[in-house]
Amino acid sequence: MTALLEIENLVAGYGSARVLKGISLSVNTGETVAVLGANGAGKSTLMNTIAGLVRPWAGRIVFAGEDVTSMPAEDRAARGLVLTPEGRGIFVTLSIEENLLVGATALRSRLGAAETRLRIAEGLERAYGIFSVLGARRHDLASKLSGGQQQMLAIARGLMAQPKLLLMDEPCLGLAPKLGTEVYAALEALREQGPSLVVVEESSRRALAFADRAYVLKIGETVLEGRAATLGADETLLEAYFGIEAAVAVAER
Ligand code: ATP
Repeated sequence: MTALLEIENLVAGYGSARVLKGISLSVNTGETVAVLGANGAGKSTLMNTIAGLVRPWAGRIVFAGEDVTSMPAEDRAARGLVLTPEGRGIFVTLSIEENLLVGATALRSRLGAAETRLRIAEGLERAYGIFSVLGARRHDLASKLSGGQQQMLAIARGLMAQPKLLLMDEPCLGLAPKLGTEVYAALEALREQGPSLVVVEESSRRALAFADRAYVLKIGETVLEGRAATLGADETLLEAYFGIEAAVAVAER
């Protein structure tokens, strides 16, 4: 497999606070990778740095064979490196379809008008195929959607940019467990469509069941990486890194 995204020794922070202390990570073409870690581990900072929203202090980010370390976020998006940020960020005063059209902005900068129209039509069809609830309500205001559906809209909007790699920062944040399960069911369908995926989660179990490989961050450093199935099967390790969640899961069995 070829690496689609290759990150070497990434250092980043805010003011004088060093948050990422030399992270190396790779995502292969077609792969689904989970990035896990407790609150404050630096997961969002890592995603925002990869997407070009936070400037790295040191290190290198290579995407599809090109060094994008200093490239503006919109140019990275135009190349297919797209972030669905934490907290959804959808426009509640716009309709579902209008929100999706905002996601196609990156296409306009690199394609002609006719080609863009065609890609948008294809993109909408694809998004509504995966997230059927959005298609059924395409002209409703986004504010009318449930939390889980709004999250699906945020992901579908990212898809409109035709990503080669979609980074999803805590797609189930603030959702009741049942809605989180719905979001993951949609993510399974999304995976079938082919983009490589990175999913960021605090909680390990669902993400490990979903991903091919995983990285665990702790205070800005990678403390663990490996095949998700192997990590997910190791109770001692899960308990060491995720404490109570693993203990509860073991007790439930
Ligand atoms: P969470 O699950 O809370 O999102 P996280 O693992 O994504 O956690 P980050 O949000 O990357 O972690 O935060 C890592 C550290 O960087 C924290 O100590 C946080 O307070 C700090 N931090 C994050 N964003 C900023 C910012 N814009 N300015 C200053 N400090 C920040």
